[in-house]
Amino acid sequence: MRGQGPESDPLPQDLPLPDERSVPDDLPLPDAPPPDGDRASAGAAPADGDAPFWKRKSLAEMTPAEWESLCDGCGRCCLNKLEDVDTGAIAWTDVACRLLDGVSCRCSDYDNRFATVPDCVRLTPAVVEEIAWLPPSCAYRLVDEGRDLPWWHPLVSGDPDTVHAARVSVRRRTVSELVVPAEEFEERLRMWPGQYPRAGISPRRPPPRAKAAVGGKGTKAGK
Ligand code: SF4
Ligand code: SF4
Repeated sequence: MRGQGPESDPLPQDLPLPDERSVPDDLPLPDAPPPDGDRASAGAAPADGDAPFWKRKSLAEMTPAEWESLCDGCGRCCLNKLEDVDTGAIAWTDVACRLLDGVSCRCSDYDNRFATVPDCVRLTPAVVEEIAWLPPSCAYRLVDEGRDLPWWHPLVSGDPDTVHAARVSVRRRTVSELVVPAEEFEERLRMWPGQYPRAGISPRRPPPRAKAAVGGKGTKAGK
């Protein structure tokens, strides 16, 4: 899955599988939801209504522009994954989709991507709830779980480069599937894409630079 990959290929038995929500026990995700999991209260707007849209709205309530801006441009979801056909466990590789630019971490042909990569998954609110393989740092997943966005998210920092500076993105950490045959994906299994990034966990770390909030992205929120 690319979210895709050779889903029919069983994983080698001697290789450890990453926990799909592998987050160190002692490192909290940003702004965990209340114990009862009540998303309404987690995302409730303050009385002054100044809370940013991702705190006020569910994914389904967002405008197309808000939805697109929610993608942090990390590129993690554009890595190939292997799924154990027996257990459904997901194992990440560092083999990127053929259309992923390994430096910008953007899809190089986003508007026409399905012509080249028909199994690219278009994210929708329903899909976000359904799939288990979105990275734990994915903004869509965080918001869907009632969590706040981390400091390095461009909507928070105002700087599209913080996702790279924090080493949350896949910048220069991947190889293209154009040079790695599918039968060799098992040799490229990696834990980090499925883990919440340590560098991003400094939950209250201020952004390195203050700029006006960015809006759009032009990446693969569609994946
Ligand atoms: S959809 Fe999620 S995982 Fe994919 S690039 Fe955007 S924020 Fe990252
Ligand atoms: S958004 Fe582009 S780079 Fe990412 S998986 Fe889809 S086709 Fe590949």
